[in-house]
Amino acid sequence: MTWINDTTERHNRKLAQRFPLLADQLDVIGAWTPEKVLEDERRTVRRLMEPMKILSLGWGVQSFTLAAMVALGELEPIDVALHADTTHEANGTYNFARNLTSWLEARGVNVVTVSDAQPLAIIGSAKTDIPAFTVTGSRSGGMLRRQCTGSWKIAPMRKWLQAHRECRPVEQWIGISLDEVQRMKDSDVKYITHRWPLIEKRMTRNDCITWLNRHRLPIPPKSACVFCPFHDMAAWREMQRNGDDDWQKAIEVDEAIRTVRPPYDLFLHPARIPLAEVDFSTAEERGQLRLWNEECSGICGV
Ligand code: SF4
Repeated sequence: MTWINDTTERHNRKLAQRFPLLADQLDVIGAWTPEKVLEDERRTVRRLMEPMKILSLGWGVQSFTLAAMVALGELEPIDVALHADTTHEANGTYNFARNLTSWLEARGVNVVTVSDAQPLAIIGSAKTDIPAFTVTGSRSGGMLRRQCTGSWKIAPMRKWLQAHRECRPVEQWIGISLDEVQRMKDSDVKYITHRWPLIEKRMTRNDCITWLNRHRLPIPPKSACVFCPFHDMAAWREMQRNGDDDWQKAIEVDEAIRTVRPPYDLFLHPARIPLAEVDFSTAEERGQLRLWNEECSGICGV
């Protein structure tokens, strides 16, 4: 090895004397000793073996808490906080994301947004991907299969990962808290391993809020598409009371889907009546299931 290094250096010195303009480049070549080449290759192999760490950033309480913990050094660094934007989140979520992205990035959290959005015209058609409530003549009903999480969130995130992971395995952090443990699910692809740092820390959603308050950080609104049939009564009521374009958009989708899948009528609300007619102050609120806990895969709403 020493003989090879000496020979390379001697050879480069001679070339540098003959071609002074190439001297800089020859310095670089001279630095490529066999030991260094081996070390570079070892480093490359180590990098390829190390998982790429990503956080699924939905901009809700739990995933934002994780991002903020990374930003403040309470969790180890990640490669990227990846947000799959459905383009149908509430205005409050977009405002929050706008305000806090630069705060995260200034503290070393790389925020990337991907999107494979579906326009309202398709959501309100027979091709709808949302899990709308169904009703037939007898008024007993079920729900359509939920395809939106897969198409609007999981698919664009995986497309981005495949383009950027350079064959590395992926460790995907998901912001599921201790009070939602039933939503934990293993990944359905080999190259991704799910990790739930809030479960490891035994933190509930309320613990996240306490943590954010302690660090004087704002509390994000619940993240979800404005027309999501998994909204609980409180979310619908708040949207109705605000009466802004989020509510109008939800009403629009509710009306548009009604008859697109005969013989069923479709509704956004589990009462299976038009959203505009739901009485959000009735006793039904007390009996309504928390559908996020029952149905969601863990990508939406965190
Ligand atoms: S928030 Fe609701 S409507 Fe939006 S992608 Fe998730 S499950 Fe579907």
